[in-house]
Formats: sequence, structure tokens, C-alpha cells
Amino acid sequence: MKLATYTTAESEPRLGFLSNNSIVDMEDFGDISNFPLPNDMLELIDMGFEVIAEINDLIANTSKEDLKEVSYSLAEITLLAPIQKPRKNIIGIGLNFTEHIAESARTLDTTGKLPQKPIIFSKPPTTVTATNTDVLLNTKLTQQLDYEVELAVIMGKKGKYVSAENALDYVFGYSVINDISARDCRREGQWIVSKGQDTFAPMGPYLVTKDEIENPHNLNLSLKLNGVQKQNSNTKLMLFNINELIEDLSTVFTLEAGDIIATGTPAGVGAGQNPQQWMRDGDVMEATVEGIGTIVNTVREI
Ligand code: MG
Repeated sequence: MKLATYTTAESEPRLGFLSNNSIVDMEDFGDISNFPLPNDMLELIDMGFEVIAEINDLIANTSKEDLKEVSYSLAEITLLAPIQKPRKNIIGIGLNFTEHIAESARTLDTTGKLPQKPIIFSKPPTTVTATNTDVLLNTKLTQQLDYEVELAVIMGKKGKYVSAENALDYVFGYSVINDISARDCRREGQWIVSKGQDTFAPMGPYLVTKDEIENPHNLNLSLKLNGVQKQNSNTKLMLFNINELIEDLSTVFTLEAGDIIATGTPAGVGAGQNPQQWMRDGDVMEATVEGIGTIVNTVREI
């Protein structure tokens, strides 16, 4: 199921799902199905992953006409970030693709050694923005704005000391995230100023439930800048895979339903180009992960 947070011209943010190129409103669908459903993504995740199978059963028993009654065409709605306001910081993983480790060592302050454990940083909830919105280039802070396409993992339940073997049981679904980075804002190896500025986490267009992703470790991910392909790789090339990341993270802190993990970017970032290429006002990024979709964001200088 492709879940969406959306608005219509009149509405507050609502939860829906994609069906036949339309967005079905989740709460209204619950009403016609006599099965109460929430109008918020985090509330749905809190119901547990099992609810997705129940909703799919209800959809199978609903006529196309009835479904249409509670649907909007894509032209009638605006997609928001699937989780507009995460309850805590997004967890970011640094240097998780070998070729990106090499390009970073050539051009940034990292060593080029393969990390022995995942490199963990975070991005505040205020970094989140939707597809078709602006990413802010604050020239008081940075002259080196960069992009990073990544697979985002959304947790489905609480876990501490989760074993790698069972880790995917704790996942609710996946999304696309663009881990925007201001390369000249690192401070003594700390990355939150570089990666934590407002609008630095475009996310979407959908949250795809894990039952729709056959193998999260075999998804192409790519990014175009102004129509030119810059990144093109596959999640099978992650240094630490999703299972290993969840095992490691959950030994550090309790993972909870709705937590978001940005799993790292492959090679091809602007910092790795020769000469280095920084984004400017009006640049358009298209970040894509296979099976999930594409988010499009424009750089806007402030
Ligand atoms: Mg990143």
C-alpha cells in the first residue's frame, strides 16, 4: 500500500492511500467500512503493521463505486511529506556506500577508511519538507549546498536490542529522502549543522508499506540535478544493510514506531564531482527510489 499525507484545497492535512491513480481518504474509507481508521500517518503506524492486511481485505470487499465516493484525483490534492512532523530527529547514516566513502575522502574531511560501525547523526523534525517544495539555501550559513538520495526506513514498533535476523519485523515501510547537506557547515566532525537546517529532508512522495517491497536490499536509487543524472546505484551496495543498522541503532537507543532512518547515499554527490558542484537558486533535484517514487525539490536562495 502506498500511503500519503495530503491536503485538498479546503482540508487540513489528511491520511490517504493510492488506488487506481486516486487518493482514497483513510478516515472516510474507515467510515464506509465500519472500521475506524485515523487521519494521521503516525496514528496509523501506532495501530501496528497488521492493520495494513486488514485494510487490504476491506478494500477487496469494497466496490469501485464506493471507493470513488471517498477518493480524490491526484490533480485535486497536494502531497505533503508522509510524516510531516516526526516525533524525534530523523536518524541519518553517514558513509554507508563504499564509492561514496571514496569520493568523500577525496574531497571532504573524511578518511576513506571503511567504518567499522555505522556512522550515526541526526536531522531535526523541522528538516522535513514535501515533494514539490523549496529547499532553502541560506547563504549566511553555506556556499556548498549538496544533495543525497537515500532510502528511508520507517519503523513500525518499539525495539531495543533487536537482532539483525529479526530486524525487518520492526519495519513498517519505506520512503525516499534527500539528505540535503551543507558541506561547509561541519563543525569538528559534527554533522548536525551541515544536515539539520530547515527543509534539509525532503521526503515522499509516499510511504510504501513493507509488504509491497519484495527486497529492500535490491532497489535502484538515483538523483537527477536539472535533468542530468548524478547518482545511480542500488541498495544492495550498502555497507551496513538495514538489518545491521537496526541491530546497531537499537543497542544505542530504543527505536519506536514512526522513527525514520535515512540509510545513506551512494556516490555522485556534488562534493565528489571534479570540479565540485554546489547547488544554486533554481536548481531542481529529482530523487528516486525504485518501487517508491520520485520527489522533486527546487533550491531557493534566502
Ligand atoms: Mg546522507
